[in-house]
Amino acid sequence: MKIEIAERLKKLPPYLFAEIDRVKRELLAEGKKLIDLGVGDPDQPTPSHIIRALERGAKNPSSHRYALDFGMGELREAVAAWYKSRFEVELDPDREVLPLLGSKEGIANISLALINPGDTVLVPNPAYPVYQAGAIFAGGDPVPMPLLKNNGFLPDLDAIGEKTASKAKMMFLNYPNNPTTAVCELEYFRQVADFCRKQGIIVCHDAAYTELAFDGFRPPSFLQAVGAREMGMEFHSLSKTYNMTGWRVGFALGNEEIIRGLSQVKSNIDSGIFRAVQIAAIEALNGPQDFRNDMIELYQKRRDLLVGGLNSLGWKVEKPKATFFVWCANPPGYDSAALTGLLLEKAGIVTTPGVGLGRYGEGYIRMALTRSEEEIAAALERLSALDLGWD
Ligand SMILES: *Cc1c(COP(=O)(O)O)cnc(C)c1O
Repeated sequence: MKIEIAERLKKLPPYLFAEIDRVKRELLAEGKKLIDLGVGDPDQPTPSHIIRALERGAKNPSSHRYALDFGMGELREAVAAWYKSRFEVELDPDREVLPLLGSKEGIANISLALINPGDTVLVPNPAYPVYQAGAIFAGGDPVPMPLLKNNGFLPDLDAIGEKTASKAKMMFLNYPNNPTTAVCELEYFRQVADFCRKQGIIVCHDAAYTELAFDGFRPPSFLQAVGAREMGMEFHSLSKTYNMTGWRVGFALGNEEIIRGLSQVKSNIDSGIFRAVQIAAIEALNGPQDFRNDMIELYQKRRDLLVGGLNSLGWKVEKPKATFFVWCANPPGYDSAALTGLLLEKAGIVTTPGVGLGRYGEGYIRMALTRSEEEIAAALERLSALDLGWD
C-alpha cells in the first residue's frame, strides 16, 4: 500500500540543511574534527540546585501520576512572581499563565487555537521555523515580514500594507531575536501594540532570550507595553535562561482568552509536564539567580573573542547585544548556502546559512556562542587559513 502523507506536511518549506547534514556525516565518518557553531543549545549544565529539586520531585510518588493540564498552582505563581520582579508585569496565575512542554510546543499549538484555514499569519523572516510551521499546520497563510538590516532587523509596520494588515489574524515577533540577534526597546513594542490593536491583529511574542543580554542591557517584555494584554501574549522559556533545553518547560502568558484557547488545545493533545520537572522549574524561578551573571559573562567573553577575531580577519560583524548567536554578513560573492558549505568542507566549521531560516536571511550566516573559548579560538585559526576575498 502506498502511504500518502498529509498535504500540510507537503506545504512545509523544503529542508535546506539536508546537504549540510550529508557533508557533516561524511566528514565525521572520515574522522575529521568538526567545530559545531550551528546549534543554539547551551553547552553548560543546568545549575545543581535545580537538579536537586528534580531529584526530590522524582522521589515523591505523587509525581508519578498524570500532572494537571494547566500545571501546578505553585509553578504558575512562581512564574507570575518572576514576571512581576523582572518586568513589573502583574499576571493572574490562574488565568494569564499557562505552563508548556517547552515554548516550542506552545508556539506550534497557538495557531491551532487561533487560526482558521486561510487566515493570514504575519511571520518574521528569517525566523525560528516553528512560527511558520504552526501556522501551516492550522491551515493558515503565513506572510513574511522581512527583517532587514536597514530597519534594525525589526518588521517595518508601515510596509505591511493596508490589505495584508486588514486580513491578518495574528503576528509572531521575537526580541531579542534569533537569528539576527537584534534587540528592541519598549517603544517598538508600544508601536506594535498600537498598530495591531487598530488592525485587530493578535500578537504572539517569543521572549526566549530576554535573560541573555550583554553589557547591562535588560530587554523588555511585550507585556510591558500599555494595552498589550488586550490582543497579545508572550512565550517564555526556561531553556536558555537556566540551561534547561532538554527539560522542556516554557510558559504562555498574557491575554486570558488566548491562554484559555491554547489550554483547550493542549488538554486535547498532552497531559501536562512531569511534576518533578515542574518542581525543578519552581526552584529555577524562586531559587538563587546569581549564576546568571556568570553565564552572561561566559557568553560575553566568547562573543568578544569571536567577533573580535572575525573582524580582524576582515569580516564585518557587529557585536550582538543579546542572544548567544552572531549574525555574520557574508563576504562579497558568497550566498549563505555556499559559504556554509565552504566553511564546513575547507575548515570543518559548522554554521547555519541564513537562508535556511527564511529567504530574507540570505546574505548572512549564523554562528552560535555555545562552544568553549578554546574551540572558538581554534575556529578562528582555521578561518584565518581561508581566503574569502575580504578586502
Ligand atoms: C530556543 C528558542 C526557543 C525555546 O524553545 P523551547 O521549546 O522553550 O526550548 C524559542 N524561540 C526561539 C526563537 C528559540 O531560539
